[in-house]
Amino acid sequence: MTELSLKQFVSSEACLKCKGCCRYKEESSVWRPKLGAVDQEALADLITAGDFLDAQAYIKTIQVHGEHICRFLDASNNKCGIYINRPLECVLYPFILSQTSDAVKVYAHLSCPYVQDHMSGTEFETYVAYLKELFSRKDIREILSVNKDMFHDYTSFAPELLHLFDLAPL
Ligand code: SF4
Repeated sequence: MTELSLKQFVSSEACLKCKGCCRYKEESSVWRPKLGAVDQEALADLITAGDFLDAQAYIKTIQVHGEHICRFLDASNNKCGIYINRPLECVLYPFILSQTSDAVKVYAHLSCPYVQDHMSGTEFETYVAYLKELFSRKDIREILSVNKDMFHDYTSFAPELLHLFDLAPL
C-alpha cells in the first residue's frame, strides 16, 4: 500500500456494489489515477513489466462493454487488482486534492453516491475533521509533498465538487 494509510470513509461493501469508480467516459479522462513518486515506487515491478502508464503517469484504460475502465479493475467482480498498492488518489477517493496556484483544495466528489447519501450526517462531519487533522501532520504533508505532481487542478469540475477545506501549499 502507498505510505499513506488512512481510514476509509466508504465501506468496502458499498464500494463493491457501486459501478461508478474506476470507469471513465473518455480514454484519456483526467479522472484516471495519476501516479505520484511513492505510487511509482510501490508499483515499480508492474510498471517495468507492462504498458500501464501514459506519458504523464496516468493509468491507461481498457475498453470493456463500451466503457473505458482502469486496466487494473476486474470488471467481473468490481475489485481492484492492485488494491494493496493502489495509487494514493484511489486511497483518498471520494475525497480529492486539487492543486491550484495558491493552495491545495480538498473536496468531496459529489458523483459518489455514498457521499450524496451521507454528506449531511455526523459521520461525514467526523470524517472531514479526521482528514483535516491528518493532512495537517508533518509526516503526512511530507508524503503529499513527494507526490504533489499527481494532483490535478479540478477547478473546472466545481459543480460536482463539495469544497471542504484548503491546505497550505505543499
Ligand atoms: S487502481 Fe484500482 S482503485 Fe484505482 S482506479 Fe484502478 S481499479 Fe480503481
